[in-house]
Amino acid sequence: MARRPLIAGNWKMHLTVPEAERLATAVVASCADLPDREVMIAPPFTALAAVAEVVRNTPVLIAGQNAAWEKQGAFTGEISPVMLREVGASMVIIGHSERRHIFGESNQMVNRRLRGALQFGLIPVLCVGETLADREEGKAMPILEQQVREGLAEVDAEAAARVVIAYEPVWAIGTGRTATGAQAQEAHAFIRNVLARVYEKKLADEIRILYGGSVKPENIDSLMAEPDIDGALVGGAALQSESFDRIVHFL
Ligand code: PEP
Repeated sequence: MARRPLIAGNWKMHLTVPEAERLATAVVASCADLPDREVMIAPPFTALAAVAEVVRNTPVLIAGQNAAWEKQGAFTGEISPVMLREVGASMVIIGHSERRHIFGESNQMVNRRLRGALQFGLIPVLCVGETLADREEGKAMPILEQQVREGLAEVDAEAAARVVIAYEPVWAIGTGRTATGAQAQEAHAFIRNVLARVYEKKLADEIRILYGGSVKPENIDSLMAEPDIDGALVGGAALQSESFDRIVHFL
């Protein structure tokens, strides 16, 4: 089964509501002629409802940038998957490196969030990635394996088929330093192999694995040429309509 490419924009903690509406309008225009690929944007929570209104009845998908695992409750500062769905999100980023490294989210917490997203009908984008120290110590692949295995703990094959993985080497996020196509391909093939061992090869071959880390108009085409790179999770370059337009139009 061919994997449908997915280009995802992570707006992080940027943009006022009017700015987000303007950028979403530009993204909708960019996507008018792209039937062979999916495009997702993850605005900050405050702009979700307004952006959902802009993309209504268009192919552009909306995601939250994180989600708790319960429907509601005493979880100050969190947002529930049901609340995300209510405002029009169909996807959610889980385990972004900024959540892991700035806010201390463990693989166990990431797994809880991921299972909550699946339970309440959101497609999770599970982010994994090694730090520079991990890579220099030769530990990149074991770290990735642990993040994938623990992130997907207690997720059965049927649910796993709905998950998107994003490989985001921490040393490449927001640094301007991109993994080479070969480095990314090696990690993606490794992750797919882990998925094949956890589940089965057929399922592993169907799961989309995005690359994230300083994706730009200049490097998107070569990254997308790699056989196991099925799309991109884009931070900085997703905040400018011209650069995101070029990225979604990868060749
Ligand atoms: C990200 O936010 O997931 C990301 C990869 O950011 P950037 O593209 O800015 O490196």
